[in-house]
Amino acid sequence: MTCDGTVHGRGIRKSFGSKTVLQNIDLDIASGEICCIIGPSGSGKSTLLRCVNGLETVDLGVLKVNGEHFGYYETDTAFHALSRKRLAEQRTKVGIVFQQFNLFPNMTARDNIMAGPVLVKHGDKQQASEQAQQLLASVGLSGFGGHYPAQLSGGQQQRVAIARALAMDPQIMLFDEPTSALDPEKVGEVLAVMKDLAQKGMTMIVVTHEMGFAREVADTLLFMDEGCIVERGDAREVLAHPKERRTQAFLERVL
Ligand code: ADP
Ligand code: MG
Repeated sequence: MTCDGTVHGRGIRKSFGSKTVLQNIDLDIASGEICCIIGPSGSGKSTLLRCVNGLETVDLGVLKVNGEHFGYYETDTAFHALSRKRLAEQRTKVGIVFQQFNLFPNMTARDNIMAGPVLVKHGDKQQASEQAQQLLASVGLSGFGGHYPAQLSGGQQQRVAIARALAMDPQIMLFDEPTSALDPEKVGEVLAVMKDLAQKGMTMIVVTHEMGFAREVADTLLFMDEGCIVERGDAREVLAHPKERRTQAFLERVL
């Protein structure tokens, strides 16, 4: 049995100071599953993604990513976490794409994509360059390797950001409102790249307000509110027939 591309969480809790941001979160994402997360601002969506990517550690509960514990409590006193080195290795297998692209502004698109393989994985430069070229082509930006972020539109920058994440050969891709900062006419080109990735079998967790994407591409949908998963299920079923009052009210606002 392979655990690659899976996420398993039980009873996850996360607080910042006295504020509990995630409460009793259970997650089961299968290999190749596309899971969309929706919910109002401040409900904990980004924090949950950051835990799955190892940018944050959970305070309580079990979190396994790609079959490996990112942290868990067995008792109230014993926290088990990966060593720093192992966590760094594991983190390379979980790609993340943010709302604000976060490209290195002083590097070309090609160098942005090569940075992980060369600087983090100490890979061969020539090989990384060829891979960058292939990735640029796969996101529809073949001729743009020499462009700097400022010379690219938002939609192009976000596609470079996706290519950069893919360059690390991740088993899971996380997207945190990847189209929210884009002009409306650029949203489609980014969603098309994500859809392509989904069809290739990548495990994806996508925080989004794009209900059309969720309906068309997602297998499962989670609705979060105030740090909890309020409702979950088959994406089309939840969107068409939300059971919880809070989900209904949220969908009425955004649809
Ligand atoms: P969402 O992505 O759903 O908008 P977030 O996960 O960003 O929600 O935030 C959930 C809550 O946690 C918010 O109240 C936010 O202010 C708080 N929060 C997030 N990150 C931090 C942090 N590093 N320190 C303190 N509070 C934080
Ligand atoms: Mg957020």
